Formats: sequence, C-alpha cells, structure tokens
Amino acid sequence: MRHQNFIDRDKLYGLLDNNVPTESELNDILNKARKLKGLNLEDVAKLLCVEDEADIEKILDTAKYCKDEIYGKRLVLFAPIYTGNACVNNCVYCGFRRDNRSLMRKVLTMDEIEQETLQLLRMGHKRALLICGESPRNNADYMVEAIRRTYAAKDEKGSTIRRINVELAPMSVEDFAKLHAEKIGTYVCFQETYDPVEYKKFHPSGPKSDYLYRLTCMDRAQEGGINDVGLGVLFGLTDYRFEILAIMEHARHLEEDYGCGPHTVSFPRIEPAEGTPFSLPENLPHPVSDKDFRKIVAIIRIAMPYTGIIISTRERPEMRDELVRYGASQISAASETNPGGYEEGERSIDESAHQKTGAQFTLGDHRSLDEVISAMIDGGYIPSFCTGCYRKGRVGADFMDLAKPGLIKEFCKPNAMFTFREYLEDYASPTTKAKGLELLQQLTQTFSKEDLKRKVEGNLCKIGEGERDLYF
Ligand code: SF4
Ligand code: SF4
Repeated sequence: MRHQNFIDRDKLYGLLDNNVPTESELNDILNKARKLKGLNLEDVAKLLCVEDEADIEKILDTAKYCKDEIYGKRLVLFAPIYTGNACVNNCVYCGFRRDNRSLMRKVLTMDEIEQETLQLLRMGHKRALLICGESPRNNADYMVEAIRRTYAAKDEKGSTIRRINVELAPMSVEDFAKLHAEKIGTYVCFQETYDPVEYKKFHPSGPKSDYLYRLTCMDRAQEGGINDVGLGVLFGLTDYRFEILAIMEHARHLEEDYGCGPHTVSFPRIEPAEGTPFSLPENLPHPVSDKDFRKIVAIIRIAMPYTGIIISTRERPEMRDELVRYGASQISAASETNPGGYEEGERSIDESAHQKTGAQFTLGDHRSLDEVISAMIDGGYIPSFCTGCYRKGRVGADFMDLAKPGLIKEFCKPNAMFTFREYLEDYASPTTKAKGLELLQQLTQTFSKEDLKRKVEGNLCKIGEGERDLYF
C-alpha cells in the first residue's frame, strides 16, 4: 500500500462541484468543529464552497473558538536559515529556479552557517528552519554537517539554537535516517500543488518534476525514523479549494499508515519573484484573495485542530495578525530568504538589496524580532520559543496522544512564559522588556491551580536571576 498515490484528483474536484451547504448543514458542521475533534473530507468540501459573507464569518468565529481553546494566546516564533540558493530544478514561480541566470548563486560554508546562526541567536531566536534549493552541493551529508554546526553555535550570552527543523527536497530512506540521527525536529516539504496535471506545468524539469516521488517523501521520512512532518502547498498555483482537500487526504494517509498526522501545515501564498514569469503581481496564476486566505486558514484550524499552522513573512503584518486570530500557531519573524542574508548586515527594507543577493520571493513583513514581539505583547499574545516537547521526547504519536485530549496546554503556556522571560532578560529593548514583564505578571495570575502557579512563579524568578533553559 505504501508509496502509492493517495490523491484521487477526480474525486476531490467532484466534491467541490455545487456543494454549498444548507444553513442547517453549515451549523451542524460548525457545531461538530466546536467539539475539537476535527472534520472529515466531506465536511471540509462543503465549507470550502461557502461564499456568503455572513457564513464565512461563522466559520471564522468557530476557528477563533478552536484556536483560543487549544492554543490560547501563545504563538511560536522561528526564523529560516537559507543555506544555499543553487538549484537543479526549474519551478516556474521561484527565484532560485535554474533558468534564473541573473541570480548570484551561493552555497554557504560551515563557517558561514555558523555566522548566520549567531545572527539569529543575537536577535533572540531559539528555533531555526534550515532550508535550501535542491542541488548535489546541498546533499544529505552537507545538511548533516550544517545541522551540527547550527546546533553547536553559541552566542555571547551562551544561547544556542534548541530546535532545528529542516525544509529540504525529498530524499531516500537512508538519507532521512541520517537526518533523523542528528535530532532534527520536523521535516517539512511542500507538495506545492497536489494536482498532478498542474504540477507538471509548474515543475517542467529536474528531479522535482517527479510528482509521485515528492508526494511519497513523507512515507520515506517515516521509514527513516522521522515521525514529525510538515505539509504545505504554494497557495495560488491552482484552485485553493482542491489543495485544502488534498492536504486533508495527505493527513488521513499519514494517520492511517503511520498513526500520526502532520505536525504542521504551512500556508505560503504565492508572491512575485524576480527572474521568473511571475515577477509581477498581475501575472500570478490563481491569486488567493485575503478573504479566501482567511477562510482557508480557518477551515484547516477547525478541521485539524491539533496541527500547527505556520505563516511566513510573505504576509503583511496586518494579515499575519488576522491569521493568528483565526488559526496560525507559528510565525517566522525577522526573516531573510537569501543565503547569508543575516550576516550581510542590517536587515534592509530595500527589495533590490534582497534581489541582488538572491531572495526566494518578496517579503511582506520587514519588522525586527523585537518589533514583532512588541506588537504581540500589545495584542496580549505570548511569544514562545518553546522546544520542550522535543527535549522531553514528546514527538510524533506520543505528542498527539497528549495534544488530542488537550493535555498539552498544561506544558505550553508555562513553557512559553519561561522562554518569553529569557527573551526579555537577554535580548529585548527596554520598552519591550518593561511591557513584557508586566504581561508576564498578569499571566501568572491566570493559573487556577495553586501548585502550578507557584512552580511557574518559581521558574520565572530563577530565570530573572540568570538560570536558563527551564521547561516542563
Ligand atoms: Fe529549487 Fe525549491 Fe525554488 Fe523549486 S522551489 S526552484 S526546488 S528552490
Ligand atoms: Fe510546542 Fe510542546 Fe512547547 Fe507546547 S510544550 S509549545 S507543544 S514544544
């Protein structure tokens, strides 16, 4: 059964044909969603067909309810490290595509990777996503070394990256096993589009043109020992409704065959990219409107309530704030999408600077980490750099066993507060620190169990006195 195509294109498009739910069907689906046990493919197909503004509001309200119940006001922060932009593929929408001759190609040396890591650490980051184009220079052995150097880097305050996720091209079971041995967190790979017909048009050559090899990469990752995997598509290549149904199918396949669905789903929306046929907004194939984007983030939140939703700096700050309300649980912040971008210095709001050194796409959020965190505090959100589960071995099916009955909340909120306090002590600007400490003070009062409250206060106090890396 394994390594077979589990996407039935005709069935999925068929489910979207004239399938608008009646009022009572919509209410039934949303009431079911409020039980926090997820939705099935047919429910999701109906929600995707909703166009009426008032009905979309009902979906958004339900998503907000699920988000608040499961994640509260926590939001996990991370940043990518692009280790290389050399690529043998020719994806039509990507600035790193082989045919983009104007791009300066670079594959970072291990010393350069260490420098990039140090720059992230000096901002206050603790979670990194290693990412690169597909090329023989970025092979599994290179990535093993890159992971080791990233974990080994230590800044002046003694901080290290505590969790590395990787976003890499599909590989063999043997290569996945090599990555697994290096203690990576989540393996992320976007299918880009699950529509096999459209897939061919967007991926005309190179190893990525093999739809089935990419579709089954998570199966090989599991066989290589990696049971935390992250899915995603590039929204805007095809009908977004089909892609959401396909993500549901992929999650079902993983649950049925490996006992655990995806740890995360990423929501990148197509952006113009220099050196591609899509360098201008008007040339993008199927742009997803803000209204539809909010709707699909909300639908995945209620359909897969325990799966993390990731939003990148492609989105503008205002849009990211909204998506956080309706479902996003992780955001990247202060990102550079070109290899060596952090070390190159001051983060630039000048797009041309990014293009010269080879950015993958256009950014929508240029704020520093401190600015992002300051805005989060103003909105009552708790910035989290927590990596507790990976350190305690709560991953894969073990993680889902805790997450599904809602027990994980017991760990997440205190752990978020501990890492937030570390950030405030070590890296925050004076203004951010002052208002952050005030927020922590208020949050401490929200624990109803006295013993837990005491433990949280105790750990926060220890962090204030200089202890680090405390977690439940
Ligand atoms: Fe290469 Fe990935 Fe860009 Fe495709 S999307 S050209 S595989 S870097
Ligand atoms: Fe994530 Fe586990 Fe930390 Fe919660 S406790 S934020 S699930 S690592």
